[in-house]
Amino acid sequence: MATILATWEAPGKTAVARAWENYVETLNLRNALEAGLEACELDPTFLAIGLGSLPNSDGEIELDAAMMDGADLSCGAVCAVRGIVPVISVARRVMEDTRHNMLAGDAARRFAIENGFGPRNLITEEIARRIEDWRAGNVPEAYVHSTSDDHGDTVTMLGLHAPDGKPNCVAASSTSGWAWKMPGRVGDSPIVGAGIYADDEVGCAGATGLGEELWKACASFRATEAMRRGRTAQEACEETVRQMLRRQPHSTDMPCVVLALRNDGDFGAALTTGEFELWVRKGETETMHRYTGLDRT
Ligand code: ASP
Repeated sequence: MATILATWEAPGKTAVARAWENYVETLNLRNALEAGLEACELDPTFLAIGLGSLPNSDGEIELDAAMMDGADLSCGAVCAVRGIVPVISVARRVMEDTRHNMLAGDAARRFAIENGFGPRNLITEEIARRIEDWRAGNVPEAYVHSTSDDHGDTVTMLGLHAPDGKPNCVAASSTSGWAWKMPGRVGDSPIVGAGIYADDEVGCAGATGLGEELWKACASFRATEAMRRGRTAQEACEETVRQMLRRQPHSTDMPCVVLALRNDGDFGAALTTGEFELWVRKGETETMHRYTGLDRT
């Protein structure tokens, strides 16, 4: 039986549902996670991923995405890509069709176009209106992204299956990053070790939230390595987050979330501050789990 996890209440629900549908058809985890993230990227109601997401301070949408397969640690990522969706599919192409791990900016866009992705305008009417508000100074500081005008809706997905009885893990992420960020800014999400990590010997982990802090913590790698030392997924996430709380004074400026899935199906999540929802699909069962910031405990 496969297990698929996705972050945040609204996009996470869409992501696991679509990924599961695809998994049932293809029995391929890379396909499933790509399909889940693609569904979110193409839905303009999700304001922190793909089409119709919140832009940088120039009013340009710059997208980041990554995928890693724990079978052999293959990975592919793109960052700061303009005018292309779904970028998760471009990241997968980087993983499968090049010798590289990551392509950035205009060159990533060129690679996408050369591989048949049509360039398109990602600014919807809703986003154009929000850009006007931002330029007029009518956007409060705390307003970053998401449908609820809250922060993170980056979708990070973790998947596990065991074809032929041998566990295989895939991790993937897609985001428009921090709204109103400096042009060219790249967060944790497309960075292997920070936003995602997967190693079939152990399991996989991912992150969402304040990318600068998650990256400094190498959060996904740290959680994976904690599981390698025998921690449960929940313990691994909590250990990672507690170290961030101890060492990184800005880790509570916004939520920093770490999620993990061990290669035996055990899963968990923890965050520095605020609230977080994780969708979990295990066979026919779909559940949503809520977590509260460890700064309150
Ligand atoms: N981690 C993402 C970034 O910093 C944002 C998020 O997850 O909300 O780009």
